[in-house]
Amino acid sequence: GKGAAMVTAVAYRLADQSRQIAQTLAEFRLSKAQLLEVKKRMKIEIERGLKKDTHGTATVKMLPTFVRSCPDGSENGDFLALDLGGTNFRVLLVKIRSGKKRTVEMHNKIYAIPIEIMQGTGEELFDHIVYCISDFLDYMGMKNARLPLGFTFSFPCQQTSLDAGRLVTWTKGFKATDCEGEDVVELLREGIKRKEEFDLDVVAIVNDTVGTMMTCAYEEPSCEIGLIAGTGSNACYMEEVRNIETVEGDEGRMCVNMEWGAFGDNGCLDDIRTQYDRAVDENSLNEGKQRYEKMCSGMYLGEIVRNILIDLTKRGFLFRGRVSETLKTRGIFETKFLSQIESDRLALLQVRAILQQLGLNSTCDDSIIVKEVCGTVSRRAAQICGAGMAAVVDKIRENRGLDHLDVTVGVDGTLYKLHPHFSRIMQQSVKELAPKCDVTFLLSEDGSGKGAALITAVGCRQRELERQ
Ligand code: BGC
Ligand code: MG
Repeated sequence: GKGAAMVTAVAYRLADQSRQIAQTLAEFRLSKAQLLEVKKRMKIEIERGLKKDTHGTATVKMLPTFVRSCPDGSENGDFLALDLGGTNFRVLLVKIRSGKKRTVEMHNKIYAIPIEIMQGTGEELFDHIVYCISDFLDYMGMKNARLPLGFTFSFPCQQTSLDAGRLVTWTKGFKATDCEGEDVVELLREGIKRKEEFDLDVVAIVNDTVGTMMTCAYEEPSCEIGLIAGTGSNACYMEEVRNIETVEGDEGRMCVNMEWGAFGDNGCLDDIRTQYDRAVDENSLNEGKQRYEKMCSGMYLGEIVRNILIDLTKRGFLFRGRVSETLKTRGIFETKFLSQIESDRLALLQVRAILQQLGLNSTCDDSIIVKEVCGTVSRRAAQICGAGMAAVVDKIRENRGLDHLDVTVGVDGTLYKLHPHFSRIMQQSVKELAPKCDVTFLLSEDGSGKGAALITAVGCRQRELERQ
């Protein structure tokens, strides 16, 4: 009768709905062949970044860092470090002691950088940074010490020495004026001069990936790669100097900051990007840039999720078809929320509670869909990050003419540390895509602080040798 017909209609509608949702998410599910293709393209872009003729137009910049050796344990002294460009801005005092019992003692303070300053003028940004250093020195009671400083600056910099680097372009949430193209160390020194309160000896500018690699290498000599899977995404590794055509010489190795976040900016990933990836890009501070980073780092994963949820809601599959103001708000799904939603230990009721906290009223069915969307987006992120890493380890293996390579990667970043599945899926992906390499991932806690200090120590030693 009529009732049965209605039940059939509802069942049909539900089946159609889940088919459409599945279809939407299917675009995010990459096959092994597609991932191997991502690896292959990364390899091509790596070569373009290294070669003199193509470096200028290359998207993956392969920036030399002038870090030529890893710490050997003889590093010693007190250093200041700055960490700008991650989740927090920090000033640190790092005391490194060499000898039989090596120790590293750290004191640090976190400072907020208000969005008006991240996106204001360069002078305001550097005045703020110097103000924070001043506060820290007061707090530690060491205004007159003139310590050597390592500046972890987690943005692409074209370096000409350990202590000089021009900002290529801002990434992530930063957009201060008058900085791009400028030497960041000079901007910092000028800020210190303007304040006329204290003096510092800026010895090194360090990318966070490099600090992370060095921190890990301090404990584990087989570490020759650094990876950040956090707010942004990037990697560095020890490359043969003879392969880095933008650097003089043929001897030894140098750490290269890949700046792989810009992979895809020439369109080479367009076939795997979805309409949601394009929407995230269009709403970002740097449209058209950092396309790979926008598919695999913490700052953007939540935005991809949000765009999918908006679309599913508009199509009537979620939140009773109502796009709330909250859902329209940029940045609501921070890494920590995605991580909670995807936690296996969480019952659906708790997922609903989290959504509630975010101001999203969900039914039980909604929460199932939301969790699936999150899982699909973060799985793809982990897999393509793994594909990038597979290209790197194979490159190192080929450099050395080896059939098999054992190597360690120092890793840091909120996505890697907080997310319940990202690290496992990423490692699995590397294993599948680079079967000739055995890759160990070591969490390198606080690489941005400790690593900057270690590099500064190595830099000071180098400088003394040159003076003799
Ligand atoms: C920056 C890199 C940095 C990475 C991780 C990217 O947006 O361009 O320099 O290493 O984020 O912080
Ligand atoms: Mg950091």
